[in-house]
Amino acid sequence: MAMKFSGYDAILIHGHAQVPTYLSIQPHKIEFKNAEALRGLSAEETGRLLSQMEEDAGIDLGIMSNIRIGQAGERLIRYASVVVDTYRHFGRLGMGAVMGSKNLKGIVVHGNQFYPIKENKKEYQKLYRDLYKRITETEVMEKYHTLGTPANILSLNAMKALPTRNLQQAQFEEAENISGENFAKITLIRKIACSGCPIGCIHLGLHRRQFSDGYDFESTVLSYDYELIFALGSFLGLSDPNDIYALIERVELHGLDAMSTGVILGWIAEAYEKKLISEKETETPVAFGEKDGFLKIISGIVEQSNEFYKTLASGSYAAAQKYGGVDFAMNYCKNEMAGYHTGYANLLGMAVGARHSHLDNAGYSIDQGLSEFDKEKIVDMLLEEEKERNVLNCLVICLFSRKIYDMKTVSECLNAVGISMSVEDLKTLGEKIFNLKVAIKKKMGFNYKKITFPKRFFETECLNGKLHEQMAHELLDLYIEKAGI
Ligand code: SF4
Repeated sequence: MAMKFSGYDAILIHGHAQVPTYLSIQPHKIEFKNAEALRGLSAEETGRLLSQMEEDAGIDLGIMSNIRIGQAGERLIRYASVVVDTYRHFGRLGMGAVMGSKNLKGIVVHGNQFYPIKENKKEYQKLYRDLYKRITETEVMEKYHTLGTPANILSLNAMKALPTRNLQQAQFEEAENISGENFAKITLIRKIACSGCPIGCIHLGLHRRQFSDGYDFESTVLSYDYELIFALGSFLGLSDPNDIYALIERVELHGLDAMSTGVILGWIAEAYEKKLISEKETETPVAFGEKDGFLKIISGIVEQSNEFYKTLASGSYAAAQKYGGVDFAMNYCKNEMAGYHTGYANLLGMAVGARHSHLDNAGYSIDQGLSEFDKEKIVDMLLEEEKERNVLNCLVICLFSRKIYDMKTVSECLNAVGISMSVEDLKTLGEKIFNLKVAIKKKMGFNYKKITFPKRFFETECLNGKLHEQMAHELLDLYIEKAGI
């Protein structure tokens, strides 16, 4: 929102700086400023200081927003995240490393521009009221505001879809402890929202820890979500919310993607158990259910103190290639898995999605809605969903409210602000973006025909029973054909 109010729709940054730098964007001024003093600081300290430095420079222009990296981004860890303001992230796919490669520690955006509605004011207001009502008075509000995404823990666990102990299981016997209900009951202190959103799905919990003997405690406020609880909880066999918070806090400070980090830790715990690696590599004992080893490893990844940690900086695929355990390094095309083991639509969707994310085409949701297995239907639904999501994403519509923003509603909204686009135009746009993404991936060397799946996906029973590798490849071939790749 700050970016739009600063007058820009997109920001493209070429090249890289010689010294740590941050970017200050104002409506009529762009400055690259020295950030030497921020080198090596955590994402949290960096965010606080960036705001302070801009205030000290006398810039006070309405909405201010900042994004920044921690030590992980500076050291080019391939799954370094970018922290957005206080509780949101560009988590996946290593945008933090991209910023680090540019010596760009952060971006501060100031916005004070306005976009008055000039025509059809009444129509705009009517549409706004209608949308507000549809969002706040339907199950979207109930689902995302009440417990938030952690509501998924118990339901996915019940349907055998909750990845547990590096997906050796799809059910966690201690799911109750890490459920959204339990996190809310014992830790929730507040719910907040992204700018302008009436839902408010961001759940903030209190992480309290003892820092010396006796009665000395300190506390931190952390946001929690389903994906974090799966990756840093069930996937590692951890069932105490406080242990999970300790890991969330550590990845948050370093600026790491919580999902990739958790899934990599899962591979480490199993590889250690199977003696493919030892303390010689990890420099600490590690086991499922023990948080201390995991905490030391997270810091080791950022410090890169030995060859093992240097390899880990490239993710689970690179580590398994070197140390073994490819069959249980749980990634799709080198991107660590998300928290769903539901069936073929999820498996294929994560493999072919442009970002290899569950959010590209929601295969996990298709699996849950299918009454019977149908190859054609799975492929058609994945393609249709990804194209529609391309439209929602480029309009910055939060995917949590996607069921409200069907294409007819999106068309009405755009028309209300003077942008004439029919439902057909939107469909064409989604298709165009899809083809563009495929073309970019191919240009960068991605080959859909060479996609492979770790064996573990076919060993652990899921919501739809046991999956078969041959069927996964048949689906992949059908997808390639139907998508015209
Ligand atoms: S915009 Fe989306 S993520 Fe942000 S508070 Fe609203 S529902 Fe949650």
